[in-house]
Amino acid sequence: MNLVNKINELRKQKNAVILAHYYVRPEIQDIADFTGDSLALSQEAAKTKADIIVFAGVHFMAETAKILSPDKKVLLPDLESGCSLAESAPVKEFKEFVDKHPDHLVITYVNTTADIKALSDITCTSSNAKEIVEDLPEKQKIIFAPDKNLGNYINRVTGRDMLLWDGECHVHDQFSLEGILSLKEANPGTKIIAHPECPKPILLVADKVGSTAALLKYSQTDDNQEYIVVTEPGILHEMKLKSPDKIFYPAPSDNPDCMCGDCSFMKLNELEKIYDCLKNESNEIKMDKALAEKALKPIVKMLEISEKLGL
Ligand code: SF4
Repeated sequence: MNLVNKINELRKQKNAVILAHYYVRPEIQDIADFTGDSLALSQEAAKTKADIIVFAGVHFMAETAKILSPDKKVLLPDLESGCSLAESAPVKEFKEFVDKHPDHLVITYVNTTADIKALSDITCTSSNAKEIVEDLPEKQKIIFAPDKNLGNYINRVTGRDMLLWDGECHVHDQFSLEGILSLKEANPGTKIIAHPECPKPILLVADKVGSTAALLKYSQTDDNQEYIVVTEPGILHEMKLKSPDKIFYPAPSDNPDCMCGDCSFMKLNELEKIYDCLKNESNEIKMDKALAEKALKPIVKMLEISEKLGL
């Protein structure tokens, strides 16, 4: 029996769902029950009656799934799949920073550990960050963490002056502006679509800035034929499936390890590891109940605001 059939058999036997983030390998996206952005995946899994969630993504995403589904068993195919952005906000330093600014409301991007969420007032995603910030009174002082590029972008589009934590995603921060412009020059008429975790000079030349899901939607509804995609290239798989007649170029990167925009953490997810963790029910994400309850609060607050705003 081939590996995919073995995974399917186990998935059925154990009443499990497999979640695949848009950045994981195509063969994993192809067998997933749900493919999407991190929070959307956790929300989808929470709605199911599954006993086990296998999260092909990174550690903070599996934690978020556990926070939203405390009674389900959440498995991460490779426990080494961390995230440079989540890790750029160590809990001790971040708590000191928050304590120094007691009059600030703390908004954190969903790409954080459960410990950081527990120190936050509201979480946000790259899809709703602008609206969440705009919903707050103009005089409200705000700390935004951990991504300084996303924070700078939100400051720019809302006219706010949020205090930013100095964190970044190494993947989005290393895309090459020069490489992107050369690629566009060689392919006139191509549009640049970029994730707001990219630095400002890239966002300024982009035709569209948006979350991974927003870029995917834009690539389907916009009438252009060619796009330079400035986010993790795993999303190209879904873009090509949704728009087979269009051309998508992965953006060049200055990352010395691969000169590509691959997230090495996301690429640690492999079919074999999904099979192993499902078979052995290993690599389980365990979380202290009190921490999970604290970390849930800012997520609930975000969902309430989103509902109020009709997002
Ligand atoms: S792409 Fe960046 S933010 Fe996403 S998991 Fe990788 S390191 Fe983290």
